[in-house]
Amino acid sequence: MSPSQPPVIVVGAGPVGLLCALELARRQVPVIVLEAEPGTTLDLRAGTFHPPTLEMLQPEGVAEAMLEVGLKVRHWQSRDREYGLIALWDLDLLRHDTPYPFRLHLEQHRLTPILLKKLQAYDHAQVLFGHEFIELTQDSERVRAVARHAQGQVEIEGSYLVGADGGRSAVRKSAGIEFDGYTWPERYTVVSTSFDFEPLGYADNAYISDPQQWLAFFRMPDAGPPGLWRMTMPVTDELSDEEVLAPAFAHRAINRIIGAADGSTYPIVHQSVYRVHQRVAQRFRVGRVLLAGDSAHVNNPLGGFGLNSGIHDAVNLGEKLARVMQGSASTDLLDLYHRQRHTVAMEYVQTLSVKNKKNLEEKDLPTRLARFEELRQTAADPVKARAYLLMSSMINSIARANAIT
Ligand SMILES: Cc1cc2nc3c(=O)[nH]c(=O)nc-3n(C[C@H](O)[C@H](O)[C@H](O)COP(=O)(O)OP(=O)(O)OC[C@H]3O[C@@H](n4cnc5c(N)ncnc54)[C@H](O)[C@@H]3O)c2cc1C
Repeated sequence: MSPSQPPVIVVGAGPVGLLCALELARRQVPVIVLEAEPGTTLDLRAGTFHPPTLEMLQPEGVAEAMLEVGLKVRHWQSRDREYGLIALWDLDLLRHDTPYPFRLHLEQHRLTPILLKKLQAYDHAQVLFGHEFIELTQDSERVRAVARHAQGQVEIEGSYLVGADGGRSAVRKSAGIEFDGYTWPERYTVVSTSFDFEPLGYADNAYISDPQQWLAFFRMPDAGPPGLWRMTMPVTDELSDEEVLAPAFAHRAINRIIGAADGSTYPIVHQSVYRVHQRVAQRFRVGRVLLAGDSAHVNNPLGGFGLNSGIHDAVNLGEKLARVMQGSASTDLLDLYHRQRHTVAMEYVQTLSVKNKKNLEEKDLPTRLARFEELRQTAADPVKARAYLLMSSMINSIARANAIT
């Protein structure tokens, strides 16, 4: 790498931006991360990590640090509100496929400080908080980013720029990249409670189908055992955000799940409501600008593919961009990044997250019953169950990306 080569600019110090920067820094590539917020953000978002994601987080000891505080989830359930437990999935069936045959539950906001600390250990990595990216220009040699900070504006020159600035990505807009797809009509709400669902037979992760209101259940580590139970469910437009965020909504939801009388109340720790989209950027590369994570693709949370696939982008891109920066590969390698990760975003993440949603909300009883039977038969047969888990735990998506050359 020539000493006069400017750094790679990464916009966004979310998990994807920080990891992409770390992948570059550990290969001696200088990086500057621009983050609009004054520090890493705290909002409650992703929380489940699949086996291949943990494998990718191994080299710098990030997976090890996560394992110290996260919750290992070996079993997860397919359930139905009316019919109860349909299938129990044992991730240990993947023990010959991965060193991490489980899901790891850990709050996203506890991953970013781990990544930040690892990144800041490199002298050639700089993280500028309070720097909001505004716009970019590029030519055949360089890319220039304008950022706003408390004292005014600054222009930073880079060799390449990675947009990891989330679903509303200003980088994507400034580069003129279309974000194709749609927004679901219903909002999703998340409720966290210390009420313990384990004695009622719930595994630490469960997906519960229901024609009126499906549920996704996750026990999260929080500050330590016994942790908190987090539920995600859809809400229709009849309720305002205010009504959904009222504790009474959460109490009613829990009463309905456990079949308790109306009026019973529970300790509610957190509630949020948000809109859900299925969108993929048309290009993950335009010249010297690359997109990764939510800036490149967004999807509903059913299956836990959003952040996991963003991490897969960050690792794929970090390795390729480092080789291009070091002169050991041509820029064509960056088009391969687009082909691999765009294909997986479309064929795998979009397709499977939409299918998961449709299965959970299916209204036709014969179709529901036929699906239950298929799930039962699959879970009861170790060969079929392993094939199912290779798909749901994203191992197949990595193989699919690697097969594209
Ligand atoms: C409620 C909820 C639950 C979810 N659950 C799961 C789950 O269980 N499993 C899963 O895999 N995924 C889940 N997701 C999705 C997951 O949270 C996202 O995929 C993930 O946050 C993407 O990471 P990112 O780094 O690409 O973007 P973000 O986390 O959005 O980070 C982007 C960063 O860029 C910064 N930024 C934005 N604009 C600018 C700018 N102009 N200049 C500088 N900085 C900027 C932001 O402040 C932020 O720090 C969930 C999402 C939500 C909302």
